[in-house]
Amino acid sequence: MAADEFVTHSSEETIAMGRDIAGKLKPPVLVLLKGDLGSGKTTLTKGIVSGLGAAKEEDVTSPTFNLVHEFRMNTLASHKGAPNQYKVYHVDLYRIENFHDLESLGLEDALSEKAIVIIEWPERFTFRTDWPTIEIRLDHAGGDSRRIAISNLTVEKGLRSTPHP
Ligand code: ADP
Ligand code: MG
Repeated sequence: MAADEFVTHSSEETIAMGRDIAGKLKPPVLVLLKGDLGSGKTTLTKGIVSGLGAAKEEDVTSPTFNLVHEFRMNTLASHKGAPNQYKVYHVDLYRIENFHDLESLGLEDALSEKAIVIIEWPERFTFRTDWPTIEIRLDHAGGDSRRIAISNLTVEKGLRSTPHP
């Protein structure tokens, strides 16, 4: 799978990259953020969500306790072809233990409307959706450097979520 690779050297640079990514997202889209704790998944999301104009950077925080944060977004002319209003979901599956927990998040509802769904720790489950999916992998690269690899995934038809034991 081809991936575009970048290196950022500060959280500000990662936020700026998130803003760039935001300019390329059109709902419906699933954004999977993979990488260790502290690799910058939430930081990148600050850039994506603020870049979409759905919230201020400082209002995008880790969904560690709520697990799902929902933002409402009014589109301007910059998002051609998008509906006038859609939602942006920021999800963290780190604490999700099983399929029952996953179901209780209402993610499948989120995926039934045209939305932008950003998921941290997606490797806990397999997501099958006909939505365009972007996978972003973040890795520590020494000090404040982070390697960020972005790929477009080929997706399978039909939404289903499978727990990984
Ligand atoms: P995650 O959500 O992957 O656990 P966070 O985004 O919450 O990670 O945390 C990343 C931490 O690393 C933050 O404290 C951030 O300030 C710091 N940091 C340092 N350099 C970078 C960088 N280049 N990109 C992203 N975060 C960085
Ligand atoms: Mg996080």
